[in-house]
Amino acid sequence: MNAVALTDISCQIDVETLLEKLRIKQDSAYLAKIQDMVAEAQPLAKPKAVYKETYVDLKGDNFVVIDGIRFTSHVLRVNMEETFRAFPFVVTCGTELEDWSGQFEDYFDSFCADAIKEMFLRSACHELEVHLDQQYGLGHAVNMNPGSLADWPIKDQKPLFELLGNVGDLIGVRLLASFLMFPVKTVSGIRFSSESNFENCQLCSRENCPGRKAPYDQGLYERKYQLKNR
Ligand code: SF4
Repeated sequence: MNAVALTDISCQIDVETLLEKLRIKQDSAYLAKIQDMVAEAQPLAKPKAVYKETYVDLKGDNFVVIDGIRFTSHVLRVNMEETFRAFPFVVTCGTELEDWSGQFEDYFDSFCADAIKEMFLRSACHELEVHLDQQYGLGHAVNMNPGSLADWPIKDQKPLFELLGNVGDLIGVRLLASFLMFPVKTVSGIRFSSESNFENCQLCSRENCPGRKAPYDQGLYERKYQLKNR
C-alpha cells in the first residue's frame, strides 16, 4: 500500500480552551488580541497527515522489522507483541500556519501563536486517529514516537520517514539533520492496536512537563519490560 495523505483536515480552534491553556482570563486585556490571532489563523490553517498501512515482518528482542525496515526499541517490540499491523504516521499543523507565525517577534505573541499551532496539531492528531479507526477498524490503539523515550532514539525518525515515502512532497514536512521536523509543530510515530493504555509519559520522569498525558510509573520498566534483566 502507498502512503495516504490527508490534506483537507477540518479543525476549529475553541478560544475558551485556548485561553485555559494560556492561563488567561476572559476579562484579560489580552483577550481581544488573542481573538484576533485566532480569527486570522483559522482560515489559513491547513493541518495535514500522512500514514501507511504496514505489516510486521520480524520481531527480535529489541527490534521490529516493518515492511522491511528495522526499528530498534525494546519497548516498541514488547508493546507490539499482539499485533502484526502498524500505521506509521506524520501529522503537522502545516506550513501555512508555520509561515503565519513567523511574523510575530514579540515574546507573548509568539507564545500565543505557538499555542494556536499546537491546538491545530492536536486536533489533527485526533482526526487521524478517528480516520484510522473508521477506515481500518483499529479500535483501541496506542501511539509510540521515536525520540520520546531513551529506549527508542530519535534517529529512528529516518527509517520512519523512509517507510512513509516522500513526506515532504505529501504534506510539506521536512526531516532535519538533527532528526527533528519542520514545521516544529509536527508529530511522528507508529499507531497500532493494543489492549493496553500505554503512553510514553508513563516511562518518562520529566517533571512539570506541560504535555504530560499520564503519570510517571516508576516501576513500569521493571514490571513490564524487564530491562533490568537484559
Ligand atoms: S512527560 Fe512530556 S517529555 Fe515525557 S514523554 Fe510525556 S510529553 Fe514527552
